[in-house]
Amino acid sequence: MSGHILIVESRTRARLMMTASFEAAHYKVSACADLAVVHGDVRRLKPDVVVLDLAADVDRGLRAIRRVTSARMSPDVIALLAYDDNDLRLAALQAGATDVVCKPFSDNVMQARIRSLLRASDALNELRPDDTALRDHAFAEPTVPFGHRSRIVVLSSRPTALMPALAGLVTKCPSEYEVHHSTADFAGAQDEPPPDLFIIDGIGPMGQPKSAGEVLRLQADLRSRSALRHANQLVILPPDAADLAAMTLDMGADDLVSSRVTRDELSHRIDRLLRHKARSDGLRANIRSGLAAAVKDPLTGLYNRRFALPHMTGLADAGHDSAPFCVMILDIDHFKQINDRFGHATGDQILIDVASRLQAQMRPTDILARIGGEEFLVVMAQTALPAAQAMAERLRQSIFAEPFDGGADQRDGSTVADAFIRVTLSVGVAQSGPDTGKEGGVSDLMSRADAALYRAKAAGRNKVILSPEAA
Ligand code: GH3
Ligand code: MG
Ligand code: MG
Repeated sequence: MSGHILIVESRTRARLMMTASFEAAHYKVSACADLAVVHGDVRRLKPDVVVLDLAADVDRGLRAIRRVTSARMSPDVIALLAYDDNDLRLAALQAGATDVVCKPFSDNVMQARIRSLLRASDALNELRPDDTALRDHAFAEPTVPFGHRSRIVVLSSRPTALMPALAGLVTKCPSEYEVHHSTADFAGAQDEPPPDLFIIDGIGPMGQPKSAGEVLRLQADLRSRSALRHANQLVILPPDAADLAAMTLDMGADDLVSSRVTRDELSHRIDRLLRHKARSDGLRANIRSGLAAAVKDPLTGLYNRRFALPHMTGLADAGHDSAPFCVMILDIDHFKQINDRFGHATGDQILIDVASRLQAQMRPTDILARIGGEEFLVVMAQTALPAAQAMAERLRQSIFAEPFDGGADQRDGSTVADAFIRVTLSVGVAQSGPDTGKEGGVSDLMSRADAALYRAKAAGRNKVILSPEAA
């Protein structure tokens, strides 16, 4: 993972030293000496991370951060401070900086932070579609649902009172926070939706730093559980634990604070993590619904042809020695007349109702798809012809037995009572054979089912016809 870093530093010596240090870590580095041109440089160079020194001119520096980070898809900004100052840290974060680091800083920690930021933005970009049209429509950036309450789990073995910043937040918003003393204690209370954020306390019950092994094991344990993998992790460490800080970041911590953090800074960082989490959750949900849309028929919610045909190929490929499978094609009889008499909207409603009656008969391993206007396909794994015939009869009956409610019949301009419409299906059934797994075998199977359907139509409709078994 290489990234592009823009260093904003007016002093030549400091700029050269930072450039050398980042270049040694194989980053692409650009440098900018003048706060007035930062915004232009960011637009032109499109760095992934901007490291901006606030020392020379705090006000202009904060303005530059605000300007750079207010753009859509802006880079992360790390603000550098000449000395630690709580108000200034908060001002930089509120201006839009993702992180604040005081000089002199450990190269190790700085680089681990940059790796962590690059990982987070890579992960987010991976969830974003490349296609701009998709991004602008179906996959538009999701917004955080109104009223969504975050779930934050604090894992700490010391009393909350010993963490004043956190204690303040927990008191202010008790419904969002749960405090657990260990993962075992937390695992016992897991009937809720998965947490959005874990706050991992790196300080032990007597105020001593926990061992690196203990903190890293805890992080790895949380990441290894599928329900917790997407939760963010914020780690609290003693102020001077530089090595452990770099390790926790590399282990996947999303943010890191010193145990001396103020309540306002902690609150700001938690908000940022939760916003980021909501954005990636939303993008993941978009992908899931996008994938569903690609294989589902929008009118009936059944699978579409694009899903059903490869599914059959999969069964055929697997089925050399195993049990045969069957397919049936079901076509509504005289559907055109229903449309003509009751209108297209009623026709649509009947398609939806037919789909739902058919679906109600399916076993968990059967696949039901809508493969044409008024044409459905059923694929039954591990099923021979007699069982498929019985199923086809059941499906035919389920449609024929009860008429469909066509809504008010408004022919001739006068509303009559609800029209009840009798619908029938013709069905052709075929069983896979020894050649179905070979080239063209699946389309041959479909042709046989289609030929049987044609015969059912010719024999007067509302019938099930079996294709002669494959040789
Ligand atoms: P057959 O018994 O021979 O199958 O006669 P049919 O009228 O059902 O068959 P045909 O293929 O002649 O006509 C199918 C009709 O289905 C024509 C088309 O307008 C209608 N149709 C196709 N898709 C939809 C749809 O999504 N909604 C509605 N309402 N009608 C559709
Ligand atoms: Mg038809
Ligand atoms: Mg048809």
